[in-house]
Amino acid sequence: MATVLEKTHPPFRNEPVRTFSDPAERAAQAAAIERFLAQSERRYPIIIGNERLTPEPAVPSVTPAEPTRYAGWYYEGTPQLADRAIAEAEKAFASWSKVPWEERADLLFRAAAAMRARKDDFNASMIVEVGKPWVEADADTAEAIDFLEFYAREALRLGGRQSIVPSPLPEDNWLEYLPLGVGAVLPPWNFPLAIMAGMTTAAIVTGNTVVLKPSPDSTIIAAGFVDLLIELGLPAGVVNFLPGGADVGERLVEHPRTRFVSFTGSMAVGLHINEVAAKPREGQVWIKRVVAEMGGKDAIVVAADADLDAAADGIVASAFGFSGQKCSAASRAIIEEPVYDALKAKVLERIAKLEVGDPVESANVAVGPVVNEKAHQRIQRAIARALEEGGRVAAGGKAADRAGYFIEPTIVENVTPEKTLAQEEVFGPVVAFIKARDFDEALTIANGTKYGLTGGLFSRDPAKLERAAREFHVGNLYLNRKCTGALVGVHPFGGFNMSGTDSKAGGHDYLLLFVQAKAIARKR
Ligand code: NAD
Repeated sequence: MATVLEKTHPPFRNEPVRTFSDPAERAAQAAAIERFLAQSERRYPIIIGNERLTPEPAVPSVTPAEPTRYAGWYYEGTPQLADRAIAEAEKAFASWSKVPWEERADLLFRAAAAMRARKDDFNASMIVEVGKPWVEADADTAEAIDFLEFYAREALRLGGRQSIVPSPLPEDNWLEYLPLGVGAVLPPWNFPLAIMAGMTTAAIVTGNTVVLKPSPDSTIIAAGFVDLLIELGLPAGVVNFLPGGADVGERLVEHPRTRFVSFTGSMAVGLHINEVAAKPREGQVWIKRVVAEMGGKDAIVVAADADLDAAADGIVASAFGFSGQKCSAASRAIIEEPVYDALKAKVLERIAKLEVGDPVESANVAVGPVVNEKAHQRIQRAIARALEEGGRVAAGGKAADRAGYFIEPTIVENVTPEKTLAQEEVFGPVVAFIKARDFDEALTIANGTKYGLTGGLFSRDPAKLERAAREFHVGNLYLNRKCTGALVGVHPFGGFNMSGTDSKAGGHDYLLLFVQAKAIARKR
């Protein structure tokens, strides 16, 4: 039976992503970027409970395409403020956990509507603060809206008494989902709106309260989202906004009153958090739940019978979209030998047409900057190491010749499966081209890393597609299409092995990670 609220909301549908081919859409987006840049001196406070804190000095959020430009200023938290934020979240939990599910879901529905009305502004914050190309920014905002719409509907499904097998005894029995408590939400910067908003709202719609510590690279984007929730009536203390670095994050993870940790980021940090959270602290009365979604070394396999144009399109889109800074990005192309040269030529043709530049300046930029100076250095080091280990540059291979943190779209070939570039995540526009003798070997190479997030196969042979469906060990497998661009609800997302806990964000199982089930039996 559909609940009243379910009936008032149509079935979930993904928010469309715009291409900006319409001049009016382009003009509106350009105007929003101007508006956002005009606010670059704005200061965004820490928010703990009802308080707005501004512990000087404020920190500028530097934009990666132009490091002398700022997206805004924020204030850094401390471990002491983390303690205060947890205390406020715990205070708010007492009432928020009792707010009816429908009311909490309604906040998400209203946030989705408000965000839809202000898409250009949210896009602008991402285009400026992390250098996202326009279409990618629009897809990020659309995904954030999708998470709000999807999790709101999921909450309506999970709220109230759940049907279970009726008792054979003279008693009534039922099961209810209860929130967990206070959560630490630690998102990455690469889907700075969608993942941050999805992680935060999944936790609060189920009745938990959180301390949101955004990534230092995308603090202003997160501040914009928290402002939106507050404007819509989010009670004080339900989402506490505490920017800062690893020290603040770590304190949130180890705090004895933290009930769960929702983390998305790198493998090294995720594993560390898992370890820190596992240790019970003085006064702690639960095992902390850790949701940790981590990195990938995602491969696209191209079989000898593949449509090579489709495969080349898929590789270029998956490897260089948002400069390869996606956990789902293809960072290995594993190609059957007979079609290696032909496929490479097609990929090179397409790379030559990619416009590299500052997305603030043009809607046509396909490859923007990488996120910061550290990433710029790290990616160049990874390329240098690949060359030392015998790799050969087939495209790009260096920092682009302009100010800002740009790296040319890069292919390194002559990479064998055990080499560092074939094993370690780079998180930049760098793809290793790996030759395979045949399909068997290609699949073995594809499965031969510690990760297991996304994967792709291009082939016209139904038997190979079937085999990949069974044997390609990844959380998200894509056949004859790019391996990025998971849609909420349509492609529940999360990886195997060291790619994480396979939480399947945007899927029907996700909200269960933020609740505990209570079974009740009452004698008649
Ligand atoms: P990161 O691990 O550096 O940081 C992630 C978050 O953790 C940030 O908020 C950071 O400030 C915080 N943090 C860092 N050290 C901490 C500590 N010791 N204790 C607590 N918190 C700490 O990752 P990033 O650079 O922001 O993001 C890129 C990574 O995220 C890549 O590895 C990418 O593959 C991964 N990622 C995975 C998914 C997925 O769904 N699997 C999605 C997006 C990104």
